[in-house]
Amino acid sequence: MIKIKNNTDKMLEKSFQALGTVNRIRIFDHRKEPVLYKAIARVLEIDDRMSAFKPDSDISKINRNAGQRFQKIHPDTYRVIRRAVEFCDMTDGAFDITIRPLVELWGINRKGSEIPSDFEIQKAVKLVNYKNIRFHKISSGVMLEHPGQAIDLGGIAKGFAADEVQRIFSENGIQNALIDLGGNIVTMGKRADGLLWQIGIQNPLAPTGQFLGSLSAENCTVVTSGSNEQFFIKDGIRYHHIINPQSGSPVRNSLLSATVVCHNSIEADALTTALFVLGPRQGIPLIEKMKAEVIFIFEDLSVMMSKGMKDRFKLNSGNEKQISS
Ligand code: AMP
Ligand code: MG
Repeated sequence: MIKIKNNTDKMLEKSFQALGTVNRIRIFDHRKEPVLYKAIARVLEIDDRMSAFKPDSDISKINRNAGQRFQKIHPDTYRVIRRAVEFCDMTDGAFDITIRPLVELWGINRKGSEIPSDFEIQKAVKLVNYKNIRFHKISSGVMLEHPGQAIDLGGIAKGFAADEVQRIFSENGIQNALIDLGGNIVTMGKRADGLLWQIGIQNPLAPTGQFLGSLSAENCTVVTSGSNEQFFIKDGIRYHHIINPQSGSPVRNSLLSATVVCHNSIEADALTTALFVLGPRQGIPLIEKMKAEVIFIFEDLSVMMSKGMKDRFKLNSGNEKQISS
């Protein structure tokens, strides 16, 4: 579906479903339409390889062979798992791609409001440990040490895909684009009117598309993880899709969302998920180390951000008093 709007008649935008979300890519040069299709094909290919749901994906094959044998996988998937494990290490396991048994147990977007028993949670927690991922570099093989263990790249694959779209555009002469893979945003160049891209930051308590503020984004990535994306509420508690690997339950702190701004979307994707688990106190030193920027939004809609965001992030009117740092 290609939409051409009146006020920016050069715009070419394509929306498509992949990676468990709605994706939207916008360019401004109609002659480059084939490049846009090439980028979309690449995202679909990444989804086919890295989905935890598709039975023929590399990830499903690794998971089926857990505790048994190495599974030879495509170099793309091997690369993303390798990179993901670096983030698991860097965050002391707050980010852990072997989280799948807990994701399945909670089934946040699947069955709604079931809360698993403590026994079930503890059983699944024991299976979560990224240190049990074994690599065989020569054959591009990966294996999980114990039966029942399973990988889930839901916290990082969109970032990899967004970086890949950007690479394809750069290599094929597209300078201006907005790449939005389910909230993993990469901006390239400028908008059609020559101004900088303004990226809205969702008000986590309001319907999708209502922003708390926005930031100007020049050739960077903006990625948000929020407890508003997939959740159910029971007895006043919000159970959402980001899970603390230690407790085995959806993270419970005062955060509603974490947004990372930097130059690499795979990094931003892994970091936002990790920051949600770590919270600001442990998260800010990590962000500083990675030379990235962050915006945290809390339950009372107060906002905390890193220094570099102060001049770039503007709260919408009515929200001005909410900044702290
Ligand atoms: P994101 O929206 O990028 O924060 O990713 C959330 C997704 O990552 C979830 O839907 C799970 O598939 C997966 N996930 C949940 N908790 C974790 C965690 N602690 N570490 C790594 N991945 C996680
Ligand atoms: Mg993420």
